[in-house]
Amino acid sequence: MVSFKTRVHLGDFFSCFNVYRKTRKMETPNKYSAGKIYRITSSNGFPPYIGSTVDSLPSRLRRHRRTRDCSSLLHLDEPDCDIELIEYFPCTSREALLWRERAHIEQSICCNQLIPIREQHERRMIHSLCNQATVVCGCGAHCSSRNMARHRRSHSHLRAMGSAQCVV
Ligand SMILES: [Zn+2]
Repeated sequence: MVSFKTRVHLGDFFSCFNVYRKTRKMETPNKYSAGKIYRITSSNGFPPYIGSTVDSLPSRLRRHRRTRDCSSLLHLDEPDCDIELIEYFPCTSREALLWRERAHIEQSICCNQLIPIREQHERRMIHSLCNQATVVCGCGAHCSSRNMARHRRSHSHLRAMGSAQCVV
């Protein structure tokens, strides 16, 4: 029979072991240490496509050929289509890699149509520019597109349009 003292020690051992196992599980290798920026080119005259990946370049090119979902499509069917390394960029997160890709896209002439990483303030700015655009309503009133829905329910609009929906 196992003595009380031994059982306590076994308990300690297993709790230590569990902590060790959990720690090991959390230490998954950082795939972004294999981060790289690449370009896809061909001699068809279109500017290169710039992208980032943690895969090998040949396998990334195969995936582009399979999905055909971005502007790299311009080059994929050319016989001399090629993928080249621009730089290795080991980092710790997808976001860091995308920021680097974005820097390359902004600094060079390329065929990319989507810019990776739009920050909250950029989205807000684009949204507010769209909303501020002035629109002329059917009743002749000028109104920002943001306020258009409210304007269409207003008495002035309904009266001007002679709508029966105008209830005082
Ligand atoms: Zn109106």
